[in-house]
Amino acid sequence: MTTTQPTIEALVADLEARFDDVDLGHVRAWKDGARHRLAVGCLPVFAPREVIWAAGALPVFVRGAGDRIETIRGDAYYQSYICHLPRSTLELGLLGHLDVLDGMVFPNTCDVIRNLSGMWQTSFPQHIVRFLDPPQTAEPASAAAYLHHELTTLFRDLCAHNGVEPVPARLHLAIADYAAANVVMRELAAARQREPWNLPVDEVYLLKRAADSMPPRDWADLARRYLAAAAARGRKPEDRIRVCLVGSFCEQPPRALLRAAEKAGCYIIDDDLTLGVEPNGPDPLLGDDGDPMAAIVAAWLRTTRPSAVRYDEHGTAGRILAERVAAVGADGVVFAAPSFCDPALLDQPRLTRVLDQRNIPYTSFKYAENTGQFQAIREQAGTFADSVKLWGTA
Ligand code: SF4
Repeated sequence: MTTTQPTIEALVADLEARFDDVDLGHVRAWKDGARHRLAVGCLPVFAPREVIWAAGALPVFVRGAGDRIETIRGDAYYQSYICHLPRSTLELGLLGHLDVLDGMVFPNTCDVIRNLSGMWQTSFPQHIVRFLDPPQTAEPASAAAYLHHELTTLFRDLCAHNGVEPVPARLHLAIADYAAANVVMRELAAARQREPWNLPVDEVYLLKRAADSMPPRDWADLARRYLAAAAARGRKPEDRIRVCLVGSFCEQPPRALLRAAEKAGCYIIDDDLTLGVEPNGPDPLLGDDGDPMAAIVAAWLRTTRPSAVRYDEHGTAGRILAERVAAVGADGVVFAAPSFCDPALLDQPRLTRVLDQRNIPYTSFKYAENTGQFQAIREQAGTFADSVKLWGTA
């Protein structure tokens, strides 16, 4: 029997269908495929996917509803001057779109997420709800001990809920599964930096969003098929600049906005849109004591990519961004932050200060997940691209 490589059109159509399925039908299908399977929602930005997966639960990143549903009831829960993500997430829950989930994990990203976790507890008592407050520093040994305790408690509780034993072997397998997916994530990042004309931002985005709610090895297989099909396109490079997109790590911009920025003249070769499903430093490595939870904790604490939602205790975020720009061969940076997102917007000045010192061009704009008009952003991105091409600066 021969297996046929699917066309790129078929792969992208499948990715679009997954993305548009707000009822998470593919998650339901996975749960129904065997006994002892749960699904646990994870809010941005970083969630302990290995721990959840080890308990027999599929981690499902919930990144708001975007522009896929209209937010009405969710608005009633919040004042107007905060971001849109918590409103549309509540709307998804209140309308039953998240009924397939058995629980939700709220990593401490900001006050908005913290408040949302409280609302979730009262609105959805059937869910296991956890607010996870990871330590902001890796230095004291107590940080590791504390996080070990938190994750072990989560692991045991999920295992008990799922009717499985919380044995270390489950964690070992989960670490291996996500390491396999991370290999392909790194290949995807390299391919898009090498040939962005063959891997448009919209498709890469859909592929990474698929990782939000797929078993890791299934996603790795899908991503390899996409990489093969994209490489076979053989497109020619266009006269566009190469940029890193920074600041969109939580509430997501509409896909049409990403397309508009790229069509205006910017190949987006690097972004922080889906940080939680990308390797954020070395994978967990088992130490001499063989404790897999300790390995997960150590990897969490030693992440290499700074983030606005984590205290930058050594003040290196700007320098690391500048080094990343150089490493991926970008011509500049586009800061794209959700309106009213304190972590992203308060982070920008310390990043732009370093970019100014190193003459790295940048531009910035704000959006909401349900923004419908992109003309101004298209013009701004186009002007930025032209300025960099003409003068090497914005
Ligand atoms: S978009 Fe920004 S402010 Fe809103 S929940 Fe996310 S991190 Fe917090």
